Amino acid sequence: LYTTGPVLVAWEPSKPLVMEEIEVAPPQAHEIRIKIVATGVCHTDLYHLFEGKHKDGFPCVLGHEGAGIVESVGSEVTKFNPGDKVIPLFISQCGQCRFCKSPKTNLCEKGWASDRYDVMSESDTRFTCKGKKVLQFMGTSTFSEYTVVNEIAVAKIHPSAPLDKVCLLGCGVATGYGAALNTAKVEPGSTCAVFGLGAVGLAAVMGCKNAGAKRIIAIDINPTKYEKAKVFGATEFVNPKDHNKPISQVLHEMTNGGVDFSLECVGSVAVMRSALESCVKGWGVSVLVGWTDMDDFAARPIQLIAGRTWKGSLFGGFKSKDGVPKLVNEYLEKKVKLDEFVTHNMTLAQVNDAIQLMQTGDCIRSVLSVALQ
Ligand code: NAD
Ligand code: ZN
Repeated sequence: LYTTGPVLVAWEPSKPLVMEEIEVAPPQAHEIRIKIVATGVCHTDLYHLFEGKHKDGFPCVLGHEGAGIVESVGSEVTKFNPGDKVIPLFISQCGQCRFCKSPKTNLCEKGWASDRYDVMSESDTRFTCKGKKVLQFMGTSTFSEYTVVNEIAVAKIHPSAPLDKVCLLGCGVATGYGAALNTAKVEPGSTCAVFGLGAVGLAAVMGCKNAGAKRIIAIDINPTKYEKAKVFGATEFVNPKDHNKPISQVLHEMTNGGVDFSLECVGSVAVMRSALESCVKGWGVSVLVGWTDMDDFAARPIQLIAGRTWKGSLFGGFKSKDGVPKLVNEYLEKKVKLDEFVTHNMTLAQVNDAIQLMQTGDCIRSVLSVALQ
């Protein structure tokens, strides 16, 4: 049966989200209808709304960092039951495609992400509002009480997991943490630099620390972020605005020739270049984590000829269905921090305030409560 529930619709780019009542179709074969309990607000939501603004990507329901409970399942679904705690995944893991079969990547071929990075949604949707088709952003749409997701993009998690915390493992924290551990493969005793100290960057700091890095240099143009970075393990802080020379030169001077690993967690091609140039020649590795598809980037070829490696990371390189339940368990075992990322708890109706807090840099993560458990 169709169900209805409160939702935030992004009717058009750059406009506030609007609270509406939405009709959500029942789950079809292999699909799961999830009641979302809590969702974080991630910069990628803001990217689609204010920067990417793809003309075919609206109206849509944003949100891709949520956690909830299975409400009902479609035919052929055997591994999920109503009441299970779950996290919807913006990267699927079908287990069958050549990418899932390779240990080298987490880029499943089956989800929306395989060929619609620009539009950031599939054309097919289970949402209707005021008689209009509304798109499902990143295959998840967690700014909605109900959402329908294929079982290849749902992780079943530990029944005692607090949903208003583990929702952050649906995107930001898994992304930054895995970028350090899985993509950069940070080594014990190394020197790391993390550019951008939002939830993604702070999670990268936590990954560097858990990998045994000796020095973790945290870089942000907003100095109010340094205190939090210390909590996650940063050892030094640099504000590019305090220097009238390139930040890469500052880092070379601080580290006798450059850092071993750098992670860009801002989403700016200029910062991506700085992060690469901050690495030491010979073996330095720089990872792109920040999301942008607007501009080309540039660098001098000698940077790579001299032995640096430039790579990127989507969802921290985690195979999503395997990785997320493990991360939830690591949180329950206190190996991964989550509570410290949450600076604001709000309701779904307060989303526009949460968006503004991110724009002004006055939050790390705002978590919105969506439905009662
Ligand atoms: P955020 O807005 O909370 O944090 C960004 C931080 O970068 C802010 O603290 C800001 O002050 C800082 N910053 C801005 N310009 C800077 C500069 N020139 N130098 C240094 N710091 C600067 O965002 P977030 O939610 O942490 O997301 C960070 C990025 O990661 C975004 O681009 C987001 O789209 C991206 N992202 C990527 C993936 C992925 O799978 N690759 C997943 C989630 C998010
Ligand atoms: Zn995100």
